[in-house]
Amino acid sequence: MAARGAIPILKGPQIIIDDTSSNPPITMAEITSLALKFLTESGIKFEKYSVAGKEVVIEDEEPRPRGESGPRIFICPHCGFTTIYEEEYWVHLKVHYVGF
Ligand SMILES: [Zn+2]
Repeated sequence: MAARGAIPILKGPQIIIDDTSSNPPITMAEITSLALKFLTESGIKFEKYSVAGKEVVIEDEEPRPRGESGPRIFICPHCGFTTIYEEEYWVHLKVHYVGF
């Protein structure tokens, strides 16, 4: 992995990633997978992610009604599988519980 100059800044419930000294800039996909790794390793349970522009919103409660904040991304907490379809997400999640 290339060395990165990103600096995380804690600000209330938010973590700001300052990547102004990072070259190339950090992508949202990288930030999303880092956030997922951090939460998993910290034992923090969450419902799902949504990525809105340059923000990754972690939802740890009941999902809000559909269509309120545009498309959201469902990420499997076990393997990082992602989909924008909630049904596909739940179908996928089952593969981790059938004991293969
Ligand atoms: Zn999975």
